[in-house]
Amino acid sequence: MDASILVVGSQQFLGIFLDQIRTITFGTVEASSNLDDVLSVVQAKQPAILIVQATQPGSLELCHQIKEQLHLGWIYCIFVNDKSETPCDGIVSDLRREWAVRADALEGGADAYLELTSASTGDPVTALAEYRLLKAQLQAGFRSVQFYQKLQQTNDLLSTMALADPLTELSNRRAMEWELPRQIQNARTHSSTVSVIMLDVDYFKAVNDNHGHQVGDRVLQLLAGRLKNNLRLQDTLFRYGGEEFLILLNQTNAWEAQVVAQRLRRIICDHLFRVDGKLALEVTISLGLASLNGSDDSKGESLVRRSDYNLRLAKSSGRNQVFCDGNKI
Ligand code: GH3
Ligand code: MG
Ligand code: MG
Repeated sequence: MDASILVVGSQQFLGIFLDQIRTITFGTVEASSNLDDVLSVVQAKQPAILIVQATQPGSLELCHQIKEQLHLGWIYCIFVNDKSETPCDGIVSDLRREWAVRADALEGGADAYLELTSASTGDPVTALAEYRLLKAQLQAGFRSVQFYQKLQQTNDLLSTMALADPLTELSNRRAMEWELPRQIQNARTHSSTVSVIMLDVDYFKAVNDNHGHQVGDRVLQLLAGRLKNNLRLQDTLFRYGGEEFLILLNQTNAWEAQVVAQRLRRIICDHLFRVDGKLALEVTISLGLASLNGSDDSKGESLVRRSDYNLRLAKSSGRNQVFCDGNKI
């Protein structure tokens, strides 16, 4: 075991358990006897396991606060009742109190509750059994945290895959549909604007028909790379689908977007696409653009529709050109 542990309790509690815990784990073991500071320590250090003395005032609230926070909720919280500070006034009422404290801890979000009595009784046989129990509980905690971390990694990977296009490695249409409303809201908050360029490869079917799909795939990869390398930092390129691409031009008005679109059109048609040593293809694109206006919806559907309409005009009036507001530019 090599993950970190934070132990919180009275000086007496720390005196008993810190050494025991250090013999169980190779990871960092830190301690705190000041409950007021613990939340900030937890936030800064994010230990895998938090061990809290159950009878410390405020321990339940601490656990609750940690479990409520999405980015800390995975920390494995073990409450330990060492019996050192629980008044004993008869077996039955003591047992009931014990159950109540245990129930409170688990209801408050604790992952485990241990009752360790050997420190107060001094019985060596019980001490050995309790040491084993503490070790097993720490192992369970590390397993749980490891499981969470793997799940988190898988989730991150799946999110990345869900938003990426495997052929061109660009963000895909789903990513665009997530990003565009964000940019529109940002533009409206800052009285700025956003423009959209929709572009489509001309006669791309002929590339597949004449040279095969693998060559077609390679052309799309080269095209994506060429477009991406010629965009400004604030622009984002998405593969919208098939041989169609969409560019979000952040803080860019229609006039600036026209300059970008013309530059991209030329960059594609002016230089052959070298697919391999033997094959070099001429490729052209048609582009339609639109800029945000006051009546556009917040998701950007009307904005994308206008850029698509302009793209269709660029196609129907000859290809290899840019259209904006129904006019060739
Ligand atoms: P236009 O100038 O009107 O856009 O003509 P086009 O031939 O480009 O358009 P069309 O819609 O007729 O054909 C698009 C082609 O793009 C058909 C489809 O098989 C091909 N395509 C779409 N996605 C891919 C891909 O990922 N790889 C390859 N190789 N071809 C693709
Ligand atoms: Mg096409
Ligand atoms: Mg198309």
